[in-house]
Amino acid sequence: ELVDLAIKFNLNMLVYQKDYIVTDYLDDRIDLLKGQSCVKIIEGGKEALKSLTDVYKVVFNASDEELFAARDKIPTELLSRYNFVYTGKNFLEVNKKTIDKGIGLKRLIEILNIDINNTYAVGDEENDLSLVKAAGIGCAVSNANPKLKEVASYITLSNEEDGVAHIIEKLILKPKIIVSACLLGDNCKYNGGDNYNSQLVSDLKDYEIIKICPECFGGLPTPRIPAEIIKDKVINKEGIDVTLNYHKGALISLELAKKHLVNQAILKAKSPSCGVGKIYDGTFTNTLIDGDGVCAKLFKENNIELYTENNYQEILKKKS
Ligand code: SF4
Repeated sequence: ELVDLAIKFNLNMLVYQKDYIVTDYLDDRIDLLKGQSCVKIIEGGKEALKSLTDVYKVVFNASDEELFAARDKIPTELLSRYNFVYTGKNFLEVNKKTIDKGIGLKRLIEILNIDINNTYAVGDEENDLSLVKAAGIGCAVSNANPKLKEVASYITLSNEEDGVAHIIEKLILKPKIIVSACLLGDNCKYNGGDNYNSQLVSDLKDYEIIKICPECFGGLPTPRIPAEIIKDKVINKEGIDVTLNYHKGALISLELAKKHLVNQAILKAKSPSCGVGKIYDGTFTNTLIDGDGVCAKLFKENNIELYTENNYQEILKKKS
């Protein structure tokens, strides 16, 4: 039926099989494909095309005007069974409804056991629509088909300016770092306030920040009674033991660090969760002693490099 359609609209046709692409006839446009294809293209004629089995996909080939005119007249019945997708100058690809790049991506992540949210896909043409929609972060090159740019969440450089490399460098390889949420302005401090540090926020503009507040993760409310570490316990000012909440929050923070493969953290100094090297002594008299907060200690044991708002500049120096 697809060969009949090609005859009706006077389109050349390519039928993809495992080892060959068989075409109705060879012409200049198909010659161009020869250099890009990893399988041999052979001439068959329309009658031979009809007898082929194990067909992977079909591509119609004609001028864009002819293709678009034909596409507008494809019978609805065929449209219900096949996707007809323009794949760039002079080619209209036909696949079964159950086959597209988005379905391919979903199958691939199943095999590789990857979360779809951790996938990036980059495209340029209509046949990339399903792929870009399915991916965690769908991207289009700047010279992509406008329909694709509409659904993409990120537009990279054109495919003549290494648009894919730009995504890898700017998005995927962007260094990740864990930061205490209160330093970023979250009102998660014990008294309901924050420890916003505008310089730190500006200095980390090229990082992907993984925000943590171990005390919130541990189920403590905000505002909450302040607590300090006494030996191995965390006791609040009313004498209540909140150690379990602190451990739970630290574990959740560590899980996040592992999930994101982060090995550096900037934590709020002196806190019973986040403090690095110095913490309050448990007397609630503003007296500092050597020691780490519960989360900072767990991070250290798991080889995460720790900094505070007072010395994080060392990371930037190392980076440059
Ligand atoms: Fe800030 Fe850490 Fe305390 Fe949360 S637990 S408020 S992030 S210092």
